[in-house]
Amino acid sequence: MSEKSGIVILGIFAADTAYKAKRLPHIAETLMGSGFTLGPGGKGSNQAIAAAKAGGKVTFISRVGNDAFGAMALGAYAEAGVKANVMQMEGVSTGAAFIFVDEVSGDNAIIVVPGAAGLIGIEDVEVNRAAIESAALFMTQLEQPLEAALHGLSIAKRAGATTIFNPAPASAIPNSIYGLCDFIVPNEVEAAELVGHAIGTDEQARAAARTLVDRGAKAAVITLGARGALYHAAGQSEFVPAFSAGNVIDTTGAGDAFLGGFATAISEGRAPIEAVRFGCATAAIAVTRPGTAPAMPSRAEISALLG
Ligand code: ATP
Repeated sequence: MSEKSGIVILGIFAADTAYKAKRLPHIAETLMGSGFTLGPGGKGSNQAIAAAKAGGKVTFISRVGNDAFGAMALGAYAEAGVKANVMQMEGVSTGAAFIFVDEVSGDNAIIVVPGAAGLIGIEDVEVNRAAIESAALFMTQLEQPLEAALHGLSIAKRAGATTIFNPAPASAIPNSIYGLCDFIVPNEVEAAELVGHAIGTDEQARAAARTLVDRGAKAAVITLGARGALYHAAGQSEFVPAFSAGNVIDTTGAGDAFLGGFATAISEGRAPIEAVRFGCATAAIAVTRPGTAPAMPSRAEISALLG
C-alpha cells in the first residue's frame, strides 16, 4: 500500500459580502452605508486555504455555481495552491453571505445562502473516495449537510486517516460521530452547545473537553479566543496560550486559521500539542489582518513566530 499523504477537506464556499452602516436598517428602510467588502469565505474553504498556505498539500471537496462568485472561489484555490475537487453546477448560485455590520456597536446580522454547497451529499464524498482513502488527514465541519460529514469521516476512519471534526456552526450532532473523531475541535460556543454548560472558566473548559473524549473522541481541542486553546486526551490536558503577532484588527476566521495550521502540522506527523501551538501561531497572525482567507499566513511567517 502506498504511503498516505496530504489533507482532504470537505466543506462549503460562501462569498462574504459585508455592508457597513451607522446602524442596521429597519424593515422597508433604505439606508446609505459607509463601506463594502467582498471576499472568499465559508469555513471549509477558509480552512483549506489556511492549510495550503501553511504548507499542507490540500484537496478541497465542495460545490459552487457557474457564476462570478464560483470563479472567485476557484481563483482563490489556484492562488493558494489548493487542489479544487469542486463541482461547478449550472442553474444554482454559489454560496453567499450577506453581512450587515453596525459600525458603531460592531454588531452584525447575517444571512448565509449555501446555494450549490447546500446540495453537497454522500455522492460528493463517494466521488472523492480514492482521494480520502489515500490522504493522511481528513477534516470537515457542519456547514454542508451532516450526512456528507458523517460519510466522509467514516471513510477516512476506516482507511486509517487521521480525522479532524470542527462542529461548526454550533448544532446538535448524533453521538455516533464522536467515535469517528481523532480530534474534535470546537470553539467555546460550539463546545457549550455540545456539552450543555458554559465554557467561562478553565475548569469548565476542562470538564467540557473530558465530556467530548468520554463520548468517544480520541482527543478534544477547544479554542478559547485570545486565551489560546485547550488540548485534552486521555492522560493529558494542557492549555496552550495564544501568541501575539501585532495589533489585533479582525478576528473573523481565527478559528479557521487555527484549524488550517493545526491540520497541516498533524498531517506532517507533529505531536498534537505541537500542532496546537502551530495552529495558535497561524491564527495569531491571521487576526492582525483584515478578512478571512486573504489573512491566512505563509509557512515562513508561521515558522518565524514559532521561533
Ligand atoms: P471565529 O468564529 O472568529 O472564526 P472562533 O470563535 O472559531 O473564531 P477562537 O476560539 O475565537 O475561534 O480563536 C481560534 C484561535 O485563534 C484561538 O485558539 C487563538 O489561538 C487564536 N486567537 C483568537 N483570537 C486571538 C487574539 N486576539 N490574539 C491572538 N490569537 C487569537
